[in-house]
Amino acid sequence: MTYDVEHFISEVRAKTGHQPEFHQALSEVFHSLQPCLDRFPKYRHNAVLERLVEPDRMIIFRVGWIDDKGDYQVNRGFRIQFNNAIGAYKGGLRFHPTVYLGLLKFLAFEQIFKNALTTLPMGGAKGGSDFDPKGKSDNEVMRFCQSFMIELVRHIGPDTDVPAGDIGVGGREIGYLFGQYKRLANEFTGTMTGKGFGWGGSLIRPEATGYGLTYFTEEMLATRGESIEGKTCTVSGSGNVAQYTVERVNEFGGKCITLSDSGGTILDRDGIDAEKLAYVMELKNERRGRIAEYAAQFPGSEYFEGKRPWGIPCDCALPCATQNEIDLDDAKALVANGCTLVAEGANMPTQPDAVDYFLANNILYGPGKAANAGGVAVSGLEMAQNAQHISWTREEVDNRLRQIMQTIHNNVRFTAAEYGSPDNYVLGANIAGFTKVANAMIAQGIV
Ligand code: NDP
Repeated sequence: MTYDVEHFISEVRAKTGHQPEFHQALSEVFHSLQPCLDRFPKYRHNAVLERLVEPDRMIIFRVGWIDDKGDYQVNRGFRIQFNNAIGAYKGGLRFHPTVYLGLLKFLAFEQIFKNALTTLPMGGAKGGSDFDPKGKSDNEVMRFCQSFMIELVRHIGPDTDVPAGDIGVGGREIGYLFGQYKRLANEFTGTMTGKGFGWGGSLIRPEATGYGLTYFTEEMLATRGESIEGKTCTVSGSGNVAQYTVERVNEFGGKCITLSDSGGTILDRDGIDAEKLAYVMELKNERRGRIAEYAAQFPGSEYFEGKRPWGIPCDCALPCATQNEIDLDDAKALVANGCTLVAEGANMPTQPDAVDYFLANNILYGPGKAANAGGVAVSGLEMAQNAQHISWTREEVDNRLRQIMQTIHNNVRFTAAEYGSPDNYVLGANIAGFTKVANAMIAQGIV
C-alpha cells in the first residue's frame, strides 16, 4: 500500500485553511517523493506523511513595545517547532510585514529537509514576526527584540531550539535578541546563531549562505565540464545572501550584473566589482537605503523601477530575495535569453510551473533546500564551536563549508540517479532529506 499524494495533499489543504505557501511547499516535496514512497511501503505503514505535516508545536504570541513617540505598538510573534527527529530545532527568524502562520509553516517545513541534507544533527523550525524593521530607529528595533524575547525565551535553549536570522533579522537584531536571552536565561550558551565574532559567533557565518550558494553552483556547472569563471550572473535581492553571493562569484571569476530590492532592479553591465559591492554593503547594512541609489552613484548603470532581474540575458540566475519571485514568464525569458543554470539563494523563489519549465528545458536547477543550505550549515558549526568553547579560523570554517556543499551536491545527485534522473536536483534533494528524517521518525516510534 502506498500514498495517493494528490489525495493526501487535498486533505491537508482542507484541514489547514488558507496557507498557500505551505501547501505549495507540501505539493513540491510530496509529489517528488512518490517514487520513494512507492518503493518503501514502510513510510505509509508508519503514517510518516501524516506525522510530518503536523508541526510538533506552534507558538503564537503578542509582542507589545513602545515606539520613539511613546505610543504603544503591537505585533504578532511566532515560533514553529516543526520536527526534531534528527536534532534540536533550528531555523531562522523573519521580521517582515508579510509574515503569518502559513508563510512560517512553509519555511519551517522546508528547513526540516534542508537541515537533514547538511549532514549535521539539526531539526527544522522557523519563526518571526510581522514587525517591519524598515524605517525604525535602532532603539525601536531593540525594544521590539527585547519584548519578542521575553516570550520566546521559555521555548528555546542550546539543546532545544536554536534560532538564527533571515529576512529583516541581521547582526543588529541577533545582538539585541541574544542580549535579552542571556539576561533572562542567566546563561551564555549557543542558543542563537549569527552572533558577532568576539561574543560567540562563527567566522564566515555572515558569508555562509552566499558563499555556499556559489560553491554549490560551481559543483553543478562542473557536471557539465564548466565553471563560474567567465559567466555572467543575474542576482536578485541586495541583502545578506545577495551580497556574499556577489562577493564569491567575483572571486571565482564570474560577473554579477544585477541586484534588486522590493523597489526595483539595478543593471550594471560592467559588473558589480569589489568596490561597488562595498558601496552596496554600506548602503544596505549601515545607511539602510534603497538599491535605486546605486544607479545615481555609478554612471552607466541603470535602475528599473518595480522590475525583477529575470528579463536580462545571463548565463546563470541566482535568486536571493524572497519566495515566488520567478514566475513562468520569467522562466521562459531566462531560457530564451540563454540562461543554463538557476541556483536558489532564497527559499522557494521559483513558482512550481517555472520549476517544471526549467526541468523540461534541461536547465541545471538547484532548489533552495540544497543550494542555500550553507547558511544553516555554518550555524551548525557555530553551535559546535559554542559547545566546545572554542573558535575555528576563517579557513577552517570555509573549508568545512565547502566540503559540506560538495557532500550535499553529491548526495543529491547520487539519490536522483538512484531514481533514474541524475540531473533532477529537486527529486534528489527531497528524497535524500526525507529518507533521513523519516527513518529517524520510524526508529523513534510514534511520538
Ligand atoms: P535580507 O533581509 O538581508 O535581504 C532580503 C532582500 O530581499 C532585500 O534586498 C529585500 O529588499 C529583498 N526582498 C525581501 N522581500 C521582498 C519582496 N517581497 N519582494 C522583493 N524583494 C524582497 O535577507 P536575506 O538575504 O537573509 O534572505 C534572502 C533570502 O534568502 C530569503 O528567502 C531567506 O529565507 C533566504 N535564506 C537566507 C539565509 C541566511 O543565512 N540569511 C539562509 C538561507 C536562505 P527590501 O530591502 O526592499 O525588503
